[in-house]
Amino acid sequence: MNGPSMPGPAAPPVLLEAGAAVGGTARQLTRLGQGDHVCLVYERPEEHVVALVPYIRQGLERGERCVYVVDEHGVGEVAAMLEAHGVEVERERERGALVFLTKRETFLRGGRFEPEEMIAYFHRVEEESVAAGFSGVCATGEMSWALGPEPTREDLLRYETLLNDYLPGSRAMANCQYHRSRFPPEIIQDVLRTHPRVILGDEVHENLFYETPEMLLGEESAAKRVEWMVRQLKRVRESERELVLMGLRLSEQSVENRRLYEEAREAVRARDEFLSVASHELKTPLTPLRLRLQGLRREVEGSGGEVVPRERVVSAARGAEQQLHRLAVLVDALLDVSRLTQGRLVLTWEALDVVEVVREVVERFAQQAAKMGSEVEVVADGPVEGRWDRLRLEQVVTNLLSNALKYGAGRPVHVAVAEERGQAVLVVRDEGIGIGPEHQERIFGKFERAVSGRHYGGLGLGLYITRQIVQALGGTIEVESEPGRGATFRVVLPRTSSPSPLGRGSG
Ligand code: ADP
Repeated sequence: MNGPSMPGPAAPPVLLEAGAAVGGTARQLTRLGQGDHVCLVYERPEEHVVALVPYIRQGLERGERCVYVVDEHGVGEVAAMLEAHGVEVERERERGALVFLTKRETFLRGGRFEPEEMIAYFHRVEEESVAAGFSGVCATGEMSWALGPEPTREDLLRYETLLNDYLPGSRAMANCQYHRSRFPPEIIQDVLRTHPRVILGDEVHENLFYETPEMLLGEESAAKRVEWMVRQLKRVRESERELVLMGLRLSEQSVENRRLYEEAREAVRARDEFLSVASHELKTPLTPLRLRLQGLRREVEGSGGEVVPRERVVSAARGAEQQLHRLAVLVDALLDVSRLTQGRLVLTWEALDVVEVVREVVERFAQQAAKMGSEVEVVADGPVEGRWDRLRLEQVVTNLLSNALKYGAGRPVHVAVAEERGQAVLVVRDEGIGIGPEHQERIFGKFERAVSGRHYGGLGLGLYITRQIVQALGGTIEVESEPGRGATFRVVLPRTSSPSPLGRGSG
C-alpha cells in the first residue's frame, strides 16, 4: 500500500526550531509500544513537532510501517519536519516504511465515515504490513478532518472506543492528533475519556479519565463504575505516595552522601596534617644526628694523624644512638598503626607481674624524668599477676609514662598498680597541663592531639596505640582531667584475658 505523495512547502522555521526539545520527548515516548492507543492534544506547532518526530522515528527504528494520515498539514510540510530531524523520508517512503495517506483513503473511504469499516481497514493494513516483513504498524492521524460534516460526535466516540477494543494485543499502535483550540470542548472531553494515554506538551500521561469501552457505551452498571472511580482515586494516591517516598529516599541519600563527603574530607585533612607532623617529627632527630657525626669527622680529619680521645668518640656515638633511638620509636609507632589498621596485632600471652613490668619501665625513664625535673613514684601493695603480652604491656606503660612526663610540667608523676575485683588496675597520674573535657574522648583517636605542635612534639598516635592494645588484651582505658590540674589515666585489665579478635597467642 502506498499513499499519494504530494510535494509541499518546506517546514516553517518554528517547526525546525522546536527540534531542540525533541530529545526530551523521545525518552518519554519510548514508553509507548504496539497495542497502545494514545492521543496528542496540542496547541502550538512546536508541541506537534516534539511529539510526532520521535513517534515516527521510533516506529521506524522498531521496524514498523509508519502510516501518517495528513489533513491539517500537507505531506510536504510533514515530510520536511521529519527530514529536518534526521528521518530519510524519501528512502523510507521508497521501501514502504513511511506512508502518507489522506482522509479519503482512510477515514472517509467510500465517501462516508463508518467506524466499523475504519477498524476493519486498520486491521487489513496491519496484516499487509506484517506480511510485507514489517514488525507492525505505527499509525498516526491528524483528526482535523473530523471538523467537517462527517462524523457525528457519537461516530467519533464509537470509533475511539472500537480502537480500544482492537489495539490491545494487536501489532499496531495509534496516535490520534487533536488540535485543541480547533475542536469544541465536548469533543476534546470525549477524546480524553477514550485514550488510555495522553501526550500533553512533551510528556506522556497515564490518563486517569480514561473509561473502558463498556463504561463509555453505557453497558456498565453503576456499581462497576463506582468501583472504577474508587480504583482511579487510589491510583492517584498511590502515585503520590510513591513520589513522596522517592523524594524521601533521595533526600536521605543526599544527607548520607553529604556525611560521607564530610567524613572523607576530614580523613584527607587529618592525613595531610599527619604527614606534615610526621615529616617534621622524623626530621627533628636527624639534625643533631648529622651534627654529631659531622663533628666527629671534623675532629678526626683535623687531628693530623693523632688519636682522637676515646671519651670524645664514645660521647659522639652515644649522642647519635639517642637520636637513632628517637627515630626508631617514631618508626615503630608508624608501623604499629599500620598493623592495627590492618588488624594484624599479634599477641604473645605469658604469665607476668604488672608491678614488675611497671618498675622496669620507670627505671628506663629515670634519666628522662630527672631531665624534666619530675619525680616518678610507684605505689603497689604486692605483685599483680596474670597472663598478658609483655612487650605490649610495656608499650602501654611507656606511652602513659612518657605523656605524663611530657605534659606533666616538671611536677611529680604517680604510678599505682593494684588488684581490684580480680582485675589488674594501672593508674598513671600527673600534675601538669591537663586536658579539656572536649578533647578527652578525641585524644584516643588516630593522629588526634589536644596541644599545638609548636609547643609539644608528637604524632598523636601514642594513646591510639595504647587503647588498641588495652582493648586487644580485653581491658579498658579512661582519662580524668581538668585543664591545668593534671591528668589521670586508668587502665583496667582482666587477669585471665581471653584473646580478642585483634590478638592471637597461647591464651
Ligand atoms: P602525642 O603525645 O604524640 O601528641 P598521644 O596520642 O600520646 O600523642 O596523645 C594525644 C594527645 O593527648 C596529646 O597531643 C595531648 O594533647 C593529650 N595528652 C596525652 N596525655 C596527656 C597528659 N598526660 N596530659 C595532658 N595532655 C595529654
